[in-house]
Amino acid sequence: MNYDYLVVGHGLAGAILTCFLEKSGKTVVVFDVPKENAASRVAAGLINPVAGKRFAKSWQVDAFLPAAKAFYQEMEERYQVPLFHQKPILKLFSTPEEQNNWMGKSTNSAWEGYIETTHLQLPPSDYVHQELGGLLIQQGGYVALRTFLQAREEDLQRRNLLRTDAFDISQLELLPEGVRYQDVQARKIIFCEGAQGASNPFFSWLPFSLNKGEILDINVPDFEASYIYNKAVYVVPLGQSHYRVGATYNWREVNEELTPDGKEELTSKVQDILKKPFTVTKQYVGIRPAVRDRKPLVGLHPQHPQVGIFNGMGSKGVLMAPLLAQQFILALEQGAPLWPEVSIARYQSLFSASTSNT
Ligand SMILES: Cc1cc2nc3c(=O)[nH]c(=O)nc-3n(C[C@H](O)[C@H](O)[C@H](O)COP(=O)(O)OP(=O)(O)OC[C@H]3O[C@@H](n4cnc5c(N)ncnc54)[C@H](O)[C@@H]3O)c2cc1C
Repeated sequence: MNYDYLVVGHGLAGAILTCFLEKSGKTVVVFDVPKENAASRVAAGLINPVAGKRFAKSWQVDAFLPAAKAFYQEMEERYQVPLFHQKPILKLFSTPEEQNNWMGKSTNSAWEGYIETTHLQLPPSDYVHQELGGLLIQQGGYVALRTFLQAREEDLQRRNLLRTDAFDISQLELLPEGVRYQDVQARKIIFCEGAQGASNPFFSWLPFSLNKGEILDINVPDFEASYIYNKAVYVVPLGQSHYRVGATYNWREVNEELTPDGKEELTSKVQDILKKPFTVTKQYVGIRPAVRDRKPLVGLHPQHPQVGIFNGMGSKGVLMAPLLAQQFILALEQGAPLWPEVSIARYQSLFSASTSNT
């Protein structure tokens, strides 16, 4: 069977790349083991334009956000399922210093369009510790990632384009003008393997900096929040008193084990936000495919132009993947340049060092 592209991995990165390849008229076949705790299946799916303690605007958010919204809305229409839940994010101040820090920055027009209001005080609430006020962030929300992946999987399966086998790289043959794998021949292969990409022999020279994240589902009886709350963790309302809470970051023990420490860390941070008792209904763990410089990994192998990578989405895959997939396809099909910050060419020296050592 001949295809334009063979895609390995159908998490967020592979699924979005495949959508745009098909949209540009290319034929694609996908190999994916649908791993229960792949990052894309455990993630809360958040998009937050202003994240972190320093109130930094997310990198390139002005470019990423319109592309992301347009993509998820198009998928909602195509599959008739709700995907992008736009919700205001209430970033609660933890300390008066944090409040001051924000007030020093708030006059900068760069945040325009993302900050709805700054509340130096909020009225006492029976449910939420909000005495120090907070920042109401607009244009964010969350994407129902499992629903999206399931819709795409069913669509590909109906057309016999999804193989749920582990891709065995030792069986891959490089041809002068493409690749062959079992009965599949393709012009190019693109690896979208998430954290497993760190052990792909074609790309082992890239500086992945994987980290483990744990997340909880909780039930808070009789509380229906209209915001996503954020103070050290996110509390995302899923409806009917259900909330998703995340996440932990652990670079030291990068494995797929659920831990009592992870649960304890998250529950104590929720108690800093919520006044009401809650029960933990589920705990999840996944590994983020992050990179040393916290930027994605996109491009073709320096010596094998029929082999590419679309990975390194770190903790912001939901926001970044739609625009990056479109840029990558323009680079693949029309030779357009990639942003230097995401192109794997920035690590050329690591590749050269790895080949001179062998
Ligand atoms: C706890 C947690 C919370 C997060 N929260 C957010 C959030 O709120 N917002 C956000 O934007 N991001 C979040 N992230 C990050 C986000 O999940 C990632 O950026 C994104 O999901 C990465 O997608 P991916 O497709 O690259 O990898 P993955 O989701 O890991 O998918 C890779 C897929 O490839 C398959 N695969 C790999 N190798 C092979 C092979 N050889 N053969 C066959 N199949 C293979 C795997 O089985 C898997 O299905 C979170 C991550 C974690 C862990």
